[in-house]
Amino acid sequence: MSAINSQSWVEGANEPDGDFPLANLPFGVVAGEGRGLSIGVRIGACIVDCRALVESGVLARLDQSIRTALSGTTLNALMSLGQSAWRGTRAELSRLLSSETADLRDHPKRSSIMLPAWGMTLRLPCDIGDYTDFYASIHHATNVGSMFRPDNPLLPNWKHMPIGYHGRSSSIVASGAAIRRPHGQTVTQDAGPPTFGPCKLMDYEMEVGALMGSGNALGEPIGIDRALDSVFGLVLLNDWSARDMQKWEYQPLGPFLAKSFASTLSGWVVSLDALEPYRIAMPERPSGDPAPLDYLRGGADVLFDVNLEVSIASAAMRTARTPATVISRGNFKDMYWSLAQMIAHHTSGGCNLRPGDLLASGTVSGPTPESRGCLLERTWRGTEPIKLGDGTERKFLQDGDEVIMRAWCARAGLPRIGFGECRGIITAAR
Ligand code: MN
Repeated sequence: MSAINSQSWVEGANEPDGDFPLANLPFGVVAGEGRGLSIGVRIGACIVDCRALVESGVLARLDQSIRTALSGTTLNALMSLGQSAWRGTRAELSRLLSSETADLRDHPKRSSIMLPAWGMTLRLPCDIGDYTDFYASIHHATNVGSMFRPDNPLLPNWKHMPIGYHGRSSSIVASGAAIRRPHGQTVTQDAGPPTFGPCKLMDYEMEVGALMGSGNALGEPIGIDRALDSVFGLVLLNDWSARDMQKWEYQPLGPFLAKSFASTLSGWVVSLDALEPYRIAMPERPSGDPAPLDYLRGGADVLFDVNLEVSIASAAMRTARTPATVISRGNFKDMYWSLAQMIAHHTSGGCNLRPGDLLASGTVSGPTPESRGCLLERTWRGTEPIKLGDGTERKFLQDGDEVIMRAWCARAGLPRIGFGECRGIITAAR
């Protein structure tokens, strides 16, 4: 790809530390003062209003089906058109936004197509029909398992298949939405009895989510070698978790109300084509670990080198304009199970995935304490509190705390590709 470092005529697109160069072009759904929802594409300091772009006529080279999908208010129609349609759209947007072309730059309607990003709000990018949350980081699974089952941290199935559970899509909210502390059952002794009240051990989980594109028909599994072709793009997910409720309810059928009160999704969907230079080959498993079964093994299987960062700002810090305190730094390449393996496993029994379905990785933790992706691990169940910039300590989240997740890919000689932010503030239980 000779054009990977191409420049754009759009303000802010060529800044080396920006999240949104010409090589990224993530899709989202945006709203602005006095205007309805529309599909947007982020570049530099601007958002391309796709409906206005279609109306301007400059997308005449694209199929009518794509232009219709781009005029909608969710990404589901575009997702359902499949990889060749996404690639064609991406190539045409890239051409129009490049410094080498003037069709859009000099278009008389340009000011109604290229909107300043600061004036727009991101919404959920699509209607999410189903949401599955995996548990695919061996560091996370081992850390959490050792807290709850010290003699038996990884269950016998864990290294043979990506473990997951069916999450709740109705309570997925866009970045920036307030998160109300939930009520639920908690115990002070393992055998109960429980009391009902506000969660006392509120946590976040830093995760990467895949939004499905075309999906598969019921009964027709997606083979591992085609699995990534079915992904529309990646987002960040904060899987808010009520640890005290989780401890009491999670056996025998897994998490339920400890997770279903809210999950926050970042707004910009980064395509796998944009992430292509940051793919890395799946490493050999440590000796002694079982080889994956054939349906979970593919020659093209990869991980993604995506830096992940979590910060917290208390209400007092925001008032005093103290910068948020970075409390963890991890990387999506530290996963044991790949995204392709999750998709192949999910569909292997015949389950159909539909456009807009969300598959999340589970908490992404690395091998070091600094790379642990939730407070349960980061503070080791509250025994090692972390210090915030206002001098206070945290074992778990307090009311008013804002959790800010960021992610980006960067390597010398390549454009930096960012995901933007995934934010949420905890508000008091009602
Ligand atoms: Mn999770």
